[in-house]
Amino acid sequence: MHKKLHSVDIFKLPVLPLRGLTVFPFMTLPFDVMRPKSIRALEEAMEKDQLVMLVSQIDPTVDHPLTEESYRVGTISKVKQFLRLPGENIRVLVEGLYRGKILDYTSTEPYFEANVEQFDVEEVDDEEEAVTPLSVEAEALKRQLLSFFGEYAEITGRVQPEAFTSMASIADNASLADTIASHMPLKTEQKQEILEEFDGNLRLEKLLKILVAEIQIAQIEKGIHDKVRSQIDKMQKDYYLREQMKVIQSELGEKEGVAGEVDELRKKMLTAGLSKEAADKVEKELDRLLKMPPGSAETGVIRTYVEWVLDLPWNKTSEEKLDLTAAQKILDEDHYGLDKVKERIIEFLAIKVMQKSLKGPILCLVGPPGVGKTSIAKSIARAINRHYVRMSLGGVKDESEIRGHRKTYVGAMPGRIIAAVKQAGTKNPLILLDEIDKMSSDYRGDPASAMLEVLDSEQNFSFRDHYLELAFDLSDVMFLTTANSTDTIPRALLDRMEVIQISSYTEEEKLQIAMNHLVQKQRLAHGMKKSQISFQEDAVRDIINYYTREAGVRSLERQLANICRKAARLIVSGEKKSITVNAKAVATFLGARKFAYDRANAQDQIGIATGLAWTAVGGDTLSIEVNVMKGKGKVELTGQLGDVMQESAKAAISFVRSRVEALGIDPAFAETTDIHVHVPEGATPKDGPSAGITLATAIISALSNKPVRNDVAMTGEITLRGRVLPIGGLKEKVIAAHRAGIKTVIIPAENQKDLEEIPANIRDKMTFVIASTMDQVLATALR
Ligand code: ADP
Repeated sequence: MHKKLHSVDIFKLPVLPLRGLTVFPFMTLPFDVMRPKSIRALEEAMEKDQLVMLVSQIDPTVDHPLTEESYRVGTISKVKQFLRLPGENIRVLVEGLYRGKILDYTSTEPYFEANVEQFDVEEVDDEEEAVTPLSVEAEALKRQLLSFFGEYAEITGRVQPEAFTSMASIADNASLADTIASHMPLKTEQKQEILEEFDGNLRLEKLLKILVAEIQIAQIEKGIHDKVRSQIDKMQKDYYLREQMKVIQSELGEKEGVAGEVDELRKKMLTAGLSKEAADKVEKELDRLLKMPPGSAETGVIRTYVEWVLDLPWNKTSEEKLDLTAAQKILDEDHYGLDKVKERIIEFLAIKVMQKSLKGPILCLVGPPGVGKTSIAKSIARAINRHYVRMSLGGVKDESEIRGHRKTYVGAMPGRIIAAVKQAGTKNPLILLDEIDKMSSDYRGDPASAMLEVLDSEQNFSFRDHYLELAFDLSDVMFLTTANSTDTIPRALLDRMEVIQISSYTEEEKLQIAMNHLVQKQRLAHGMKKSQISFQEDAVRDIINYYTREAGVRSLERQLANICRKAARLIVSGEKKSITVNAKAVATFLGARKFAYDRANAQDQIGIATGLAWTAVGGDTLSIEVNVMKGKGKVELTGQLGDVMQESAKAAISFVRSRVEALGIDPAFAETTDIHVHVPEGATPKDGPSAGITLATAIISALSNKPVRNDVAMTGEITLRGRVLPIGGLKEKVIAAHRAGIKTVIIPAENQKDLEEIPANIRDKMTFVIASTMDQVLATALR
């Protein structure tokens, strides 16, 4: 079936030009009429059959259109209602009936009138059936149209829902196109185009094209709209959150939040005296901070960084005192003895006075624990008015501990050097690098190489920490280092340092330190007065000899503290008013004696010789026993001897075998005699080559049946040929010998120079036998 309009008749009708409005057949709509000419046309129609020809103006802005300024094709409509509104206006309700075409205007005044050709639907199909289904093509078109229109309606939301229900029931494509076109907000030209298409299917196609284009436009519009909307939403959300944050911050007294904070930091920056590099960097970070959304994790990182930089003492120094006499006085006040250290420090200051710079080797105080290395460093700082910071290097094995982690690490921090400088609060502190020999290295990098840079006066004016990524000037810092021994200090570091040995204290020295310093210190620490507690000399001696065994005075100080504590309790409880600590009181307060020193053997013995050992806690005597018995030449060594000591025992035996005749020993002893060497007090491991001559002496005494003098002690390494080689720790060993009641000490010839280190009061009471061969040793040692 195909429907086509055909001309049915020609009428003379009043013509009404419409502005921006197109009326389609089958469409009912109200509109207001204001133009007198149009009102006249309507009145004319109302008087007759209420029919009127409605056409659209080509340009809706024209007030008084000429005949050719309206389209020729329009809709012949019926005026269903006619209502006079207050004023001159008229409201009408019209219903479109047929398409019409103006053939010619018959008059233009007082209203338009024209001959109009009326068109109506004609079924141009020969089939007889009353209701024929649409052709497949037409049906497809219809469905397409409906589905596109649905889409259009959905996207734009501009179509009334009831429009749909009415549309689905329209069977004929031509009117469907009209209905849809009338429901769409199309431009006048577009509507006119649809109106002027008299062929139903073509009209549908045209509309379809327009619809597709409109959908595209609508989609783009919607996209833009959504985007704008979501942007606005986000902006609104951010704004809201920010406002909320401001309120929270002001509740917390944080003024204007980040901006306020950045202002504060900027203010601080003005007085912090940053280097140019640092100032630029901080500026940059502050800018970043401002741009960052508040509360993000990164802001914390930036803040911490900026605070670190600003907290460093870029321009703060303490005024150094370079008065040598005053310095000496302070050093003497705080510490007994330690003359070498004090002297070196005073020299050091003297040079500083002369050349105003700190260039020169770093001092390294080497000695056993408790001899005052740390505390003299503190005292030096006090003497020259520098801030003091102690930094322990024990266990540091990673370069980044010295130099920091890069900022990109989570929880990164500056290294210890920068941390120490910050702690000091001045750029010229005295930093004590404690236990530099306990630093080790592993796969994470060598801390020693970082230390090298820190200590090198040629480089340390621009020390770069990984975290700060800024150069900091360390050249005004005075570094002091300490170590227990130089053996494990990396060579390159050791080369930069001047070693000052501090040896262990003698009983006399300990006594002086205790009486002059430690007692008063502990008294103060326990809030007691001189009149409340005093120590007698013999009491302190007892503590030194029987309750401590150490090179320094640390446990001596601890025992004194112990007694003070117990005494304080007695005084507070009212049992005693004051306490004088004598030897008896020591026994009461501290309990049974903990240590006993070896005394010299009571009499000369065969096969027992006295050696001297040097351990971490100072020197000690070492009794070596040898038994010989009939056997097969077996040699047994007992008493926890280390490898080196076992080897020196073998060397001693080898020497003896090569000299049997001169020594008056049975030449066959190596086949007929078993030798058992024992070093008692097995709990303390013993090692080192310095017992060599003692071992040989004891063996020779046992084999030759000649007793060893009980008042002689000896120390020295032995070679296979009987030469005596030098040893270390002579001072400590001699002190131990003296304490044990020994009168004569045999020492290697090459150690003679070390005798001057021995405190005069001890040296004067002892005889030293200088030996370079075993024969000289035996001449003195054997009866
Ligand atoms: P180190 O650092 O060598 O291990 P410390 O400096 O910790 O030793 O010393 C331990 C204690 O002994 C400190 O209280 C220190 O004041 C005290 N002391 C050590 N030597 C002396 C001394 N010569 N004069 C006064 N006090 C000393």
